[in-house]
Amino acid sequence: MANQIDEVMGLCALCGPDNGQTRVLRQSHFLPKSVYRYLNLSKSENTKLLLRTSKKNRVFSMGKQIVQALLCDTCEGLMSVRGEDYYSKMMLRVDVKNKMPSPAYKILKESLMHLWKTPGNGYGPNMILSIGSNLFRAIDSRQLYHFVIGMFWKSTFDNWEHCSVMPLEASLIEGMRKFLLGGDSLAGYIVRIVPSFWREKHGVVFPGLLKRQPFFSIQQFDFYLENDERQFNRAISIDAVPLFYTIDSMRSESTFQGMSGIYKNAKQTKSAEETQLSWPAE
Ligand SMILES: [Zn+2]
Repeated sequence: MANQIDEVMGLCALCGPDNGQTRVLRQSHFLPKSVYRYLNLSKSENTKLLLRTSKKNRVFSMGKQIVQALLCDTCEGLMSVRGEDYYSKMMLRVDVKNKMPSPAYKILKESLMHLWKTPGNGYGPNMILSIGSNLFRAIDSRQLYHFVIGMFWKSTFDNWEHCSVMPLEASLIEGMRKFLLGGDSLAGYIVRIVPSFWREKHGVVFPGLLKRQPFFSIQQFDFYLENDERQFNRAISIDAVPLFYTIDSMRSESTFQGMSGIYKNAKQTKSAEETQLSWPAE
């Protein structure tokens, strides 16, 4: 009996529009649970996770994890198996004890930085190097693409505490939903992942528009959704996932400054005052 009091019934946001079935809805996480786990693992002792909301310019200690009744059991499982679990394992799982980066970070740094630094390739601090997902066989980019689209899709729902709704066109949101259930990738769009090789980032920027582009950031990676017909067609023509890995030191630096600036400029509330933002010095 006790368990049933908390049960929420409704139309699942992912499969509901197709099957019209009322189901038990799970308390779905906005950020995968593992993100909180790794943030907690990598923070210093006696400090807290801080949160600045989109509405008020105040920083406070992050209380509970952000959830809402959104998906049925089947769709929760689908989101985990098709992308979230892989993302956690490959991009998030840092070896805190031995100070080792996540597997994907290591692979990307070794290969991208090598290309970037090779004399004669012509890459320098102000140049952008972008590589298609097909060239990284050690990374299952299809799973990462599913995770990233899942994050952007979830951000279009209201009722995530402290978060603003991502204002995307209804047709794009519907395209995301169809893709997440097993449909085609979003026509005309690419996902871009920009790793931060020059700065350590210990934070999250919830999905929102950055210079009118859908963006979010978790730890060492920034994620973008870009309208780019040409790159999309290029990827699809060789049967590659429309996802690109990009070295862009200026873009990376600007999101770092944005993230740390948000904290510096916000009002610290009592719950946050024992924790000072202390990322590696500039
Ligand atoms: Zn469902």
